[in-house]
Amino acid sequence: MEPKQKPIASLSLDLDNLWSYMKTHGEAGWESFPSYLDTVLPVALDAMDRLGLSITFFIVGQDAALSKNREALHSIVQRGHEVGNHSFDHEPWLHLYDRDRIRQEIIRAEEHIVSVTGQKPLGFRGPGFSWSRDLLEVLLECGYLYDASTLPTYIGPLARAYYLWTSDLSAEEKKKRAGLFGKWSDGLRPVKPFFWQLPSGLKLLEIPVTTMPVFKVPFHLSYLIYLSRFSTFLMSIYLRMAIMLCRLTKTAPSFLLHPLDLIGCDQVSKLSFFPGMDLPGERKVALFENVLRDLSRHYRLGNMSIHAASVAKDPSVRTLLPDA
Ligand SMILES: [Zn+2]
Repeated sequence: MEPKQKPIASLSLDLDNLWSYMKTHGEAGWESFPSYLDTVLPVALDAMDRLGLSITFFIVGQDAALSKNREALHSIVQRGHEVGNHSFDHEPWLHLYDRDRIRQEIIRAEEHIVSVTGQKPLGFRGPGFSWSRDLLEVLLECGYLYDASTLPTYIGPLARAYYLWTSDLSAEEKKKRAGLFGKWSDGLRPVKPFFWQLPSGLKLLEIPVTTMPVFKVPFHLSYLIYLSRFSTFLMSIYLRMAIMLCRLTKTAPSFLLHPLDLIGCDQVSKLSFFPGMDLPGERKVALFENVLRDLSRHYRLGNMSIHAASVAKDPSVRTLLPDA
């Protein structure tokens, strides 16, 4: 008997750069756009090679616009990966912009990403999971196949409270960040991919960052690494439970990675305020490889476009109206 083929799941890495963490956290010096891409990309690409994976890197336009990052960013496509659009300025309050400003963000980022990598992004992920109905319409206008900006979780407001509490921002800066990481009602949105039904009559595919079905708690790698600080056994139970619930609910995960999941304080000293930065890079890469081995036991892991193509063919995919 033919063994049953594993379902497709996707892997993506939001290429948030050193300066964007410094900027969001209100640290001086971000204005010269300090970059750690020369450190992060070789580590990430080598790890993907060892696991035989081809994934999607969501690139920030501002990084693609600077010649110092060209070589590192070009290595992404050279080594067989796909690129996505992660906005130009990486401002997590994209949902506050009007349509013209959103269009500018998308097009400007895309032009620089295409010029550096030679690839047109087919998908978009908003910084800090920010999105709006105008954003979805603009993505369709610009020929995007999918959006990947939603994070269906109830814990966004908690994450925001923690972030504001640990940062040194002025009252005005805090006000701008009031909608950061979403609302309680985000938890009501589906974990499975679906189509947005837009006022123009067109539909856009949404591939949410997968959270644990039923409980809607995140399990992307940053959370798993955080849990591993208490116990790697706890981390592994949590991951296995997430995978089990994904399988029971027939949810093919879209699994999210960040640069700081793969590098530690031994490689970047500036981000000590960030949770998990006291772990050395080597330890993080070992955790990453374990997690990916667990996921690939149940899923065929590929990039976001492969995931999008397989979802688009599935007749059971739901259609929803955007509530924002
Ligand atoms: Zn980001």
